[in-house]
Amino acid sequence: MDSTPPVIDGATTLVGIIGQPVVHSRSPQMHNAAFRALGLNWAYVPFPVEPAELGDAVAGLKALGVRGFNVTIPHKQAVMPLLDDISPAAVAIGAVNTVVIDGGRLVGHNTDGEGFLRSLTEAHRFRLERSRALILGAGGASRAVCDALARAGVPALRISNRSAGKAEELAATIRAHHPGCDAKALDWNPLDHRAAINWAELIVNTTSVGLHVGDGSPLDTNGISPGHIVADLIYNPPQTPLLQKCAALRARTLNGLGMLLHQGAAAFALWTGKDAPVDVMRRALDGEPRPS
Ligand code: NAP
Repeated sequence: MDSTPPVIDGATTLVGIIGQPVVHSRSPQMHNAAFRALGLNWAYVPFPVEPAELGDAVAGLKALGVRGFNVTIPHKQAVMPLLDDISPAAVAIGAVNTVVIDGGRLVGHNTDGEGFLRSLTEAHRFRLERSRALILGAGGASRAVCDALARAGVPALRISNRSAGKAEELAATIRAHHPGCDAKALDWNPLDHRAAINWAELIVNTTSVGLHVGDGSPLDTNGISPGHIVADLIYNPPQTPLLQKCAALRARTLNGLGMLLHQGAAAFALWTGKDAPVDVMRRALDGEPRPS
């Protein structure tokens, strides 16, 4: 990976990411490598922003002439009222992860769902429109994944979340925006999960279970077979306990690194108007060690 820092001068166009924390974000490496590869005088900077400072930070980025920014936890919903316009997909998802500043107007997008879908279809050949999906979790990332799957023609979703009300609410949102998708909430218990494993072809973990050392699998993997595709949005560690167990049962698996890559590639295209150099960005991500 080329680790040369970008040369900043009076003509540099700035983009970045706001969130808290952002210290472990891999997006700067990915985007700065892409700018270097295309010879663009651009730079991507992480900005730690506390919730109480969000309004001032967004106004400041606009005043400074920044071209756009990514938005991560905890600002993905809170940033929405501060924007001039929001894409239909981001409205349906209820969260923004990318803002483009164009002629002083702030326009919000959500590239997480598109990123997930691209990574899934790039990694595995299968017919999405024939695949029923079990989704674990109903937080912000789940909303993007469910919207993207329904948009891509997945006929049925079962959404299971520890806090049942959020799964009910998400299933109702998907039905409202995508009447062709049979979306229903499922109780968070092993019996219902087992039945859904037998019913589904695709299983997606959008919970944060597996992220921390000592975490187990959010799902009892009894019933997982080589016919299943199991995706986990977590990319650090690269093999969560869920993915390890499912791979041992010879299911096809996928971690969240491809989603990170492709949501970034979509944001890159929105800011620059150019196709992202995806292979360069992938190599920049692959070269990153696990933060301690
Ligand atoms: P979030 O909005 O905070 O949602 C967290 C989800 O995890 C909720 O459904 C929550 O359930 C569930 N959860 C947390 N602890 C749990 C436990 N002990 N048992 C069962 N469920 C539990 O977070 P998010 O933004 O959706 O992110 C979720 C995961 O996706 C994170 O691991 C994040 O790193 C990953 N992610 C990856 C990418 C990528 O590019 N690959 C992008 C975005 C997010 P409750 O509602 O009951 O709390």
